[in-house]
Amino acid sequence: MLIDALEKELSHLDESGLRRILRVAEGPTNIRQRITDRAGVTKEHLLFCSNDYLGLASHSKVKEALKEGVDRWGGGSGASHLISGHTRAHVDLEEKLSALYEPFIGMNRCLTFSTGFMANLAVMTALGGEDAELFSDQLNHASLIDGMRLAKGNVSRFKHKDYVSLESALSRSTAKKKIIVSDGVFSMDGDFCDGPQLVRLAEKYDAFVVIDDAHGFGTIGDTGLGTIQYQNIQSNRVISIGTLSKAAGLSGAFVIAPRLVIDYLEQVARSYIYTTASVPALSYALLASIDIICGDEGALLREKLHKIGEKLFEGLISIKSSQSNLHWRIPKTMTPIQPVVLGDAASTMGLSIGLENLGFRVPGIRPPTVPEGTSRLRITLSAAHEESDVDQLLDAMRQLT
Ligand SMILES: *Cc1c(COP(=O)(O)O)cnc(C)c1O
Repeated sequence: MLIDALEKELSHLDESGLRRILRVAEGPTNIRQRITDRAGVTKEHLLFCSNDYLGLASHSKVKEALKEGVDRWGGGSGASHLISGHTRAHVDLEEKLSALYEPFIGMNRCLTFSTGFMANLAVMTALGGEDAELFSDQLNHASLIDGMRLAKGNVSRFKHKDYVSLESALSRSTAKKKIIVSDGVFSMDGDFCDGPQLVRLAEKYDAFVVIDDAHGFGTIGDTGLGTIQYQNIQSNRVISIGTLSKAAGLSGAFVIAPRLVIDYLEQVARSYIYTTASVPALSYALLASIDIICGDEGALLREKLHKIGEKLFEGLISIKSSQSNLHWRIPKTMTPIQPVVLGDAASTMGLSIGLENLGFRVPGIRPPTVPEGTSRLRITLSAAHEESDVDQLLDAMRQLT
């Protein structure tokens, strides 16, 4: 019977220490939050786990714009985009993003989605038809992977950033449509794809490159436009996907691509067509959030983020070098994602729980989210953190190791 079978599977998760728990935040998104655990105990935590990288979720201008958006546009959109849910607020957002990316993907068009997950399903299924082959970095985000599972075309995986094996797969492929799929900033490692190299391969083998820049948008590049700006990629073979739920502090996603690609998505992508258009007030508020990201304030926030990132990295290195028994791998990243790879799942979770008991929320990430033997703490920083917050975290980690 279903219930018995599920119960058995859940208790198996319990026994192997893999059962995840939901915690409840009792207040707005911020680096300090009161959180209730499963035992019902509420206490304040200092968070190093949010993707609200610039602190815009609680920014006064963003909140004001959201309220104003509700006054102008009301609540829900009432229908899917192709019926009657596509509002001027959505169009304004799409046009703004399209113009911002024009120097990188010329003659582009932008299409917005309710979430990054849905944008990725749309792009993978619409472009990855039977006559397509998708070439996927092994560490790509789950939503790309699920999109590829739904796509009818073949999927060839290559080892993380192993572009030599990518090239040999491309050279063997006889597919009519070849699509290279990669995160821009990898969500569990904080490293970048090599965009120029991917574009070079795309040109050589007549392919397209999909870059999912969920973590890059807002956090890197001179005006926050992400990997494509940071690596100065100019190509009409690139399809860039950004989420508006992370650095932009709200929710939603966008796809920028040569116009024809977007015209096609709009006609066939099922996660675009068969879902209600997002709340228009969100699009309205996102205009304010993007103004902050691309303006002087955004530049200052990114500078601060970078500075506390350096401090964190140096502190971690000093903890590691002061204790010969620590075999941490601490990759240097230019992004707000700083992994500390411990290797085994048990010690990773032990440290994560130890930190939680001291009032720090730093998730431990283990298989299947990351490959076996690479369990890690995933520390994420926000421009809302102060240097003293990083000091507190480092002190707690010292105490626990
Ligand atoms: C978070 C994330 C997504 C999903 O975005 P949502 O807007 O949260 O659905 C997609 N890709 C990557 C790499 C992500 O980190």
